[in-house]
Amino acid sequence: MMKCDVIRDLIPMYMDKTASAETEEAVREHLKSCRECKGFFDSWKAYETKEAGSENKKKLERAAEVSGADIAELEYKFASLSSKLKKRRLRNLLIAIAVAVSVLTYVTIDIVNTLKRKDKR
Ligand SMILES: [Zn+2]
Repeated sequence: MMKCDVIRDLIPMYMDKTASAETEEAVREHLKSCRECKGFFDSWKAYETKEAGSENKKKLERAAEVSGADIAELEYKFASLSSKLKKRRLRNLLIAIAVAVSVLTYVTIDIVNTLKRKDKR
C-alpha cells in the first residue's frame, strides 16, 4: 500500500494522464480504498476545473474535514499542485511546438531541395 503523501503527489499526473500505466493503476486502486485521498482528489478536481465558487468552497471544506487538514493549507496545496500541472502542460506544449517546427523545417528543406533539383533539369 502506497503512502497517502505519495499518492497525492502523483494525482496531478494521474489527472493529466501523463502517469505511467503502473502509476495510474496504483493511484486508482488507492483512491478506491482511501476515503481521505478520494476526498482530496475530488476536491482538487473541483478546484482545477474551476466549478462554481461556492460549490468549490464546499468541496474544499468537506475535503478539509475528511482529511483533517486546514482549509488554508489545502488551498495552498491545491494552488501548488495547480501550478505544477500548468508547468507540466506548458512543457508538453513547448515540446509539441518544437517537434512541429522541426518537422516543418524538414519538410521545407525537402521541398526546397526538390525544387532545386527540378531547376537543374
Ligand atoms: Zn490515501
